[in-house]
Amino acid sequence: MASSLPLLLLVLCGLGVAQSRLKVYNMRATCLPSDLLGITDGYVKVFCGSASLGTTAVRKDNANPWWEEEFSYFKAQQNDVLRLEVHDSDIFFDDLLGVCQRQIKYGTYEHECYLEKGGTLRYTYSLSSH
Ligand code: CA
Repeated sequence: MASSLPLLLLVLCGLGVAQSRLKVYNMRATCLPSDLLGITDGYVKVFCGSASLGTTAVRKDNANPWWEEEFSYFKAQQNDVLRLEVHDSDIFFDDLLGVCQRQIKYGTYEHECYLEKGGTLRYTYSLSSH
């Protein structure tokens, strides 16, 4: 029994820096600004801390797009910074329309954020222990 104690402590310490499951979904934008080339072709890049969770599809010519993608990350921790970047796909250089950042907490939350170049992004995230 005594010999298994170090292993047990190791396991408990591993749980102590509990890695949690982050899910980001239900992303919808409204009133995205148009540029010289026409109506915005929006997509979203999702990050948690330094990790990239993925990129949505481009919604062409749509100022009010929504995205059906869900992004999961299994190494999230409370207070990590969730970052969503809304971009407009263009032929040469994509434009960054705005960035939404917040520290994540346990639970499920829906947020709306105002993009620097106009429009809003709404999204939902949930953070739960495994
Ligand atoms: Ca465009």
